[in-house]
Amino acid sequence: MEHWQEMLRQSVDSSKDLVERFGFNTELANRLNSLFHIRINPYYLSLIRYPGDPIWLQCIPDAKELEEDGLPEDPLAEDSHSPVPSIVHRYPDRVLFLTTSQCSMYCRFCTRKRKVGDSSKINMKYIQGGIDYIAAHPEIRDVIMSGGDPLMLTDFMLERIISGLRAIPHVEIIRLGTKMPCVLPQRVTPKLVKMLRKYHPIYINTHFNHPWECTLEAKRACEMIADAGIPLGNQAVLMKGVNDDPDVMLELMRKLLAMRVRPYYLYQADITKGANHFRTPVSVGLNIMDKLRGHTSGLAIPQFVIDAPGGGGKIPLLPQYVLGRNGNQIILRNYKYDIYTYPDVEEDPKIPTPTVERRFTRKKKRTAPTYAPDEAKV
Ligand code: SF4
Repeated sequence: MEHWQEMLRQSVDSSKDLVERFGFNTELANRLNSLFHIRINPYYLSLIRYPGDPIWLQCIPDAKELEEDGLPEDPLAEDSHSPVPSIVHRYPDRVLFLTTSQCSMYCRFCTRKRKVGDSSKINMKYIQGGIDYIAAHPEIRDVIMSGGDPLMLTDFMLERIISGLRAIPHVEIIRLGTKMPCVLPQRVTPKLVKMLRKYHPIYINTHFNHPWECTLEAKRACEMIADAGIPLGNQAVLMKGVNDDPDVMLELMRKLLAMRVRPYYLYQADITKGANHFRTPVSVGLNIMDKLRGHTSGLAIPQFVIDAPGGGGKIPLLPQYVLGRNGNQIILRNYKYDIYTYPDVEEDPKIPTPTVERRFTRKKKRTAPTYAPDEAKV
């Protein structure tokens, strides 16, 4: 057994642990555990500095999860874009490949709570069906391995899946969505990166939400991945009490860059059942973006996005920098709120300009892409 697997065995992993270690009432602990499984590995647990701190909020269950919030279990409508059990096929050229239900820490804000931790819903027995589906769809050039956390698989199993994907000629890019560099960096071993580097181009998107997670162990893990030629991006989630503060976010983004991780997305929290207490007004995210731009390198600035409810995909949000237009002069403001005008290029009159009506009229609603299971060529 590898060291990271031994660490996992010592996780807080049951309602009994919650009662004994955190003084939860037994009935509450049982209800929380059945809503979404509890697991906190000893490394992540060691990052907690005091009850209710930003690390605690992400991993220790809260009675607010049980409130009747009326929110959906599948806010991104992944299940309706799932032609086979292990695949979510929403965009034309890429798929999400769910490879394991397991995570080394179950984040209380998880969007995929309805499946994560439940091996009847994400299971190895569905892996071959996923590979077959990808092989049968030549338009898929980008596969994002997710779950759960794909780095919960052993190196052997991971290599079987990745080599299976690499054998498909039209798969150009393989991405791994993993929280391990943040929550259990001991998982990143020389053996793992040696295996991964055989299958380039590989990308890793990881998931740091707070500067306290940027430890020496995490830095070492990220550096090993980067040294193997694997670009690293970060997908953070904006959460109340965790990172809804411009100074916290600035520190996080700077630390990530120093660990060779490029900030990629900052997500507005999804409207997920049992995670409503993490949501912030959209204006909070816009204010954070306003405080990042100009105050640190553009490399450290993620895109702030809403993953559109119902499966509409990611929609970027920006603070207002274009204030108006005066003839061909565009009126802009910079990060210090100084006003500038920029002379736009006159449009060629021979090229018809779309009318305002045409540009802003809502497109006729189209039917969803035909990736329904009965039409899948598998
Ligand atoms: S690591 Fe990802 S999939 Fe696992 S619980 Fe956290 S957010 Fe959900």
